[in-house]
Amino acid sequence: MSQLKIEPIRLPGLELKRPIIISGPCSAETEEQTLNTAQQLSDMGVKIFRAGIWKPRTRPGAFEGVGSIGLPWLKRVKEETGMFIGVEVANAHHVYEAIKYGVDIMWIGARTSANPFAVQEVADALKGIDIPVLVKNPVNPDLELWIGAFERLNNAGITQLAAIHRGFSTYDKSEFRNHPQWQIPIELRRRFPEIPIITDPSHIGGKRSLIAEICQEAMDLSFDGLIIETHCNPDKAWSDASQQITPETLKGILDNLVLRRPKI
Ligand code: PEP
Ligand code: MN
Repeated sequence: MSQLKIEPIRLPGLELKRPIIISGPCSAETEEQTLNTAQQLSDMGVKIFRAGIWKPRTRPGAFEGVGSIGLPWLKRVKEETGMFIGVEVANAHHVYEAIKYGVDIMWIGARTSANPFAVQEVADALKGIDIPVLVKNPVNPDLELWIGAFERLNNAGITQLAAIHRGFSTYDKSEFRNHPQWQIPIELRRRFPEIPIITDPSHIGGKRSLIAEICQEAMDLSFDGLIIETHCNPDKAWSDASQQITPETLKGILDNLVLRRPKI
């Protein structure tokens, strides 16, 4: 059995309590949309902001992210709200750009964690940088591939690691965009209890109506946090419009979460 060295995520001045909440738009689209969404989230107490800058689209032609011009917008979010900022990185260039603009947390997306060459490139670029990295499960239900990504990062000296459970793609018809297959993150936890697990109800559900119940399921399983896509005007979002909710809707969902005793 492999060994991983996992240390708690450190964000200066922030005491991370369960559930860890990370929220923000699927994509940073404009400076105004980014700051508006961030301000509303900050006002309701969210401390960690997410926004995609480089978007890995399944097929070409969709919005592929604004790229590096969006990083100063995130820097403004950090300066004006005090929130920590997180972006997805998929190659060494993304890592260097994110560091340049003071990004606090990086995450590896589901299409990237399915590709060992890409994970290795990101891990190599992160050598010597002590930053929290969240690893989404690969798009396919392959636990070993997910664990392999943690090992590659760990071998590069990254120890502040957490898992994001975002569901698994399936060709079968399903009410979910990506089937949760809860048994897979549960098995990850059994083998590596020290890795925090953050559930991503937005990419699991794919639609607003499923977000609340997936959040509750994650809490019932005693998972550690939630990463939820929010947008100041979800219907007009340039990516993942059907699953994004307003910060106000998020507040309602979080207020209604029941942190009862775990069912396993
Ligand atoms: C995202 O977080 O917006 C994203 C692209 O997610 P995933 O990698 O889970 O598809
Ligand atoms: Mn998205």
